[in-house]
Amino acid sequence: MKKPLIGITSTFVRLNELSEGVYVHQDYHRAVREAGAVPFVLPLTDEEAFCEAIDRCDGVIFSGGEDVDPKYFGADPHTGLGNVFPLRDRLEILAMRRLKTQDKPMLAICRGVQVLNVAFGGTLIQDLPSIRPNAMQHMQKAARHHDSHWIDIVEGSRLFQVLGHPRVRTNSLHHQAIDAVAPGFRVSGTAGDGTVEAIEAPDARYILGVQWHPESMAAHDPIMKGLFSSLVEASTVAALY
Ligand code: MN
Repeated sequence: MKKPLIGITSTFVRLNELSEGVYVHQDYHRAVREAGAVPFVLPLTDEEAFCEAIDRCDGVIFSGGEDVDPKYFGADPHTGLGNVFPLRDRLEILAMRRLKTQDKPMLAICRGVQVLNVAFGGTLIQDLPSIRPNAMQHMQKAARHHDSHWIDIVEGSRLFQVLGHPRVRTNSLHHQAIDAVAPGFRVSGTAGDGTVEAIEAPDARYILGVQWHPESMAAHDPIMKGLFSSLVEASTVAALY
């Protein structure tokens, strides 16, 4: 049987005047490969080519990165807002709506879950430390794979089914978070300070979003590895059609 092709969204970096192009952290393609699928980095290109590339994927991972432009959820930029990247916002929102219509599997990670929420009508907290000063530290000062805080997983959620535990340890590398959850989505995980850490679309076959970085934990954490296995399993089914 053909291995599913898992698209991974990228960002744009400029190393110096001679080197610029797409970038994706290697933990993403390692995690996909380890889970038995073929990783496929999606370049930031024009809408037509991006949609065609998306259509050839059996599942898509929306990776971490820049802040989402608040114009997409009807807000002005807060002083704590970081870098935004209009092309990436536009392409990813387009792709997510397309994938949902096709009922194809999506795993949205960090920035990914924020874009997911905004793409379907939700809003974001633009800067946790300044807007929610009582929140815990969500931008850990430790290695990327370090398990920084607990997350309570909502029993009965799809995420609970996948992770198999009511509480999990996760890393935390975000300064933004979900505020109002998009219509048609539900919260599936929260941090101890009430921050929304995971959402999902209950009516979809597989649309999960997590605020942490499971790709950087998967090599040493079987629970996070299981998250990628579940995406690959759902995408294997998609590959049959
Ligand atoms: Mn967090």
